[in-house]
Amino acid sequence: TRGLMNGKRGLIMGVANNRSIAWGIGKALADAGAELALTYQGDALKKRVEPLADQLGAIVAGHCDVTDAASIDAVFKTLEDTWGRIDFLVHAVAFSDKDELTGRYVDTTSDNFDRTMNISCYSLTAVTQRAEKLMTQGGSILTLTYYGAEKVMPHYNVMGVAKAALEASVKYLAADLGPQNIRVNAISAGPIKTLAASGIGDFRYILKWNEYNAPLRRTVTIEEVGDAALFLLSDLGRGVTGEIQHVDCGYNIVGMKAVDAPDI
Ligand code: NAD
Repeated sequence: TRGLMNGKRGLIMGVANNRSIAWGIGKALADAGAELALTYQGDALKKRVEPLADQLGAIVAGHCDVTDAASIDAVFKTLEDTWGRIDFLVHAVAFSDKDELTGRYVDTTSDNFDRTMNISCYSLTAVTQRAEKLMTQGGSILTLTYYGAEKVMPHYNVMGVAKAALEASVKYLAADLGPQNIRVNAISAGPIKTLAASGIGDFRYILKWNEYNAPLRRTVTIEEVGDAALFLLSDLGRGVTGEIQHVDCGYNIVGMKAVDAPDI
C-alpha cells in the first residue's frame, strides 16, 4: 500500500486511544502516505491524542464535540486555513448512556434517544456538510457501523436504532454527493474491545460468541478495519459509494451457531 495515499489529505475523528478503530484506520492511512489531521473530544483526550498524532506525523485540528456546532466549524476552518481542501474524512464517533446499553430497548428515555441519535447518527451529516465544501476535487467519507443495525443484538438497544439510521444516512448522503465525485461509505466492523464497546452490557460474551461462530473463527482487529478503510478512502475504491462493507470475519452471513462452537 506504500504510496497509495500520496498527496491525499484528510481528517480523522474518533481517536480516543491506541485501541480506537480510528487509530487502526489512521495507521493504515499514514503508512500509505496520507497526510492526516486528528481531532480530540475534550481536554481529557487531548493528552492521549497529541502523542498519537505525532506518531502518525498528523496535525491536531483541535477539540471537537459533535454536539457543539461551533467546535465542528472551528475544526473545518483550521483545515481550510492549513490545507485549503481535503480528500477524505473518517467519522468514528458514537455515544449512548451506558445505563441504556443493557436491559431492554423498550425502556429507552427520550433524552438518551435524542442524544444517541445526535452524536451517533446526525453528526455524520453535520460533518459531511462541512467536508463537502472542502472536497473541491471529489472525496471519500467513511463512517463506522455495527451489525446491531440489521439484527437485534442483546444490550445494543438504542445504539442499534441509531446505527440503522446512520446506514440509511450513508445512502442518502452518497446519492446527494455522488455528482461531485464525493463517495460516502460505512464499514460494519465486528466487535472489538475499545473504550466505547466497554459500555455495552456483556460485551465479553459478544466477543466470544463472534470468535466461536464467525466463519474465520476469530474476531477482527483494528488493523484489518484500517486496511478495508484504506480501500474505501483511496482510489482503489473509486467505484464504490453508498456501501455498507462488513469487516467482521464473516459473522453476518451465518444463520446459526457453528456446530463446533463450545459453550460460553
Ligand atoms: P472509541 O471509544 O475508541 O471511539 C469512540 C470515539 O467517539 C471516541 O474518540 C470519542 O471521543 C468519540 N465521541 C463520543 N462522543 C463524541 C462527541 N460528542 N463528539 C465527538 N466525539 C465523540 O471506540 P470505537 O469502538 O473505536 O468506536 C468508533 C466507532 O466504531 C463508533 O462509531 C462505534 O460505534 C463503531 N463500532 C465499534 C465497534 C466495536 O466493537 N468497538 C464495532 C462496530 C462499530
